[in-house]
Amino acid sequence: MRLILLGPPGAGKGTQAKRLEQKHGLTQLSTGDMLRSVVESGSALGREAKAIMDAGKLVSDDIMIRMISERIDEPDCATGFILDGFPRTRAQAEALDELLERLGARLERCVAILVDEDVLVERLLKRARIEGRTDDNEGTIRTRMRVYRDQTEPLLDYYRERGVLAEVEGLGSVEEVAKRIAAALDG
Ligand code: AMP
Repeated sequence: MRLILLGPPGAGKGTQAKRLEQKHGLTQLSTGDMLRSVVESGSALGREAKAIMDAGKLVSDDIMIRMISERIDEPDCATGFILDGFPRTRAQAEALDELLERLGARLERCVAILVDEDVLVERLLKRARIEGRTDDNEGTIRTRMRVYRDQTEPLLDYYRERGVLAEVEGLGSVEEVAKRIAAALDG
């Protein structure tokens, strides 16, 4: 099974992706996590990425597409994966289509987790306090929301047109949202 989890920052994509990973034996591909480990490594690319992430902007399509295409070729992705945080732009979505075609694989579903923006800002500020993420301060959060609306939200139409979009309400407990996602995957 090949899935995309789409949704604004703080919608719970990472949490739900981890649950799906366990439940269905899929590999979670989180581009945010990948980037954070590049930043950890202290490389030149890591320093460049950190500045962009701390500003709440998007790392270039070129870098992201290269990163995900290398990762998708690894053996643990052969039977399926959950994309969490990718694609975020139309160019990334088109590149993913090409990648899947090359693999002879089909995208089963794009699950969009939808949450009201005020709730998200609250959640992200709380996460910043708990996890100490440097891209979760209020100014950056606002930029990340705007970037989501401008660049990523249009992908809902992209996947709706392809007949693979499922929209789920992201308010409520982790369990409740997980149930809605399960229902969307069955349907
Ligand atoms: P996330 O953990 O998914 O919220 O990602 C954290 C940050 O990493 C984002 O705010 C972006 O700066 C960067 N990032 C993650 N995934 C992508 C992507 N697919 N394209 C561009 N930038 C990304």
